[in-house]
Amino acid sequence: MSSNIRLNKVCQHCQQEFIAKTMLTRYCSHACNRKAYKQAKREEKLKSAIHDVSVQPTILSTAISWHTLEDKLLLNLKEAAQLLNISPLTLRRWLKDGIITSSRLGKKHLFDRVEIKMKLAASS
Ligand SMILES: [Zn+2]
Repeated sequence: MSSNIRLNKVCQHCQQEFIAKTMLTRYCSHACNRKAYKQAKREEKLKSAIHDVSVQPTILSTAISWHTLEDKLLLNLKEAAQLLNISPLTLRRWLKDGIITSSRLGKKHLFDRVEIKMKLAASS
């Protein structure tokens, strides 16, 4: 379906007039087409780079809030004992006697702050 149309067009890259053989031609030559394509790619890359920069602080603040959340919800043996106003040794005895429960993370005990608070409320 080769057509005989000849269109006077302006190259979108070098702004020179040229004769296009199809309606879709936007550039005077393959070189202009390639250069325009590369430029578009570069601008795309630049845009995504700017996007990355704007996204980074969000990721950072999320990491920080996660950390503080963990600090608030889970306590180690020493912190839990401090909060209960007892010695870590007493807390270990409480664990053994089943007065209080903890989650184990390897050899570490992790105490739920909510449970500690409930124990405090019950004892006062
Ligand atoms: Zn051109």
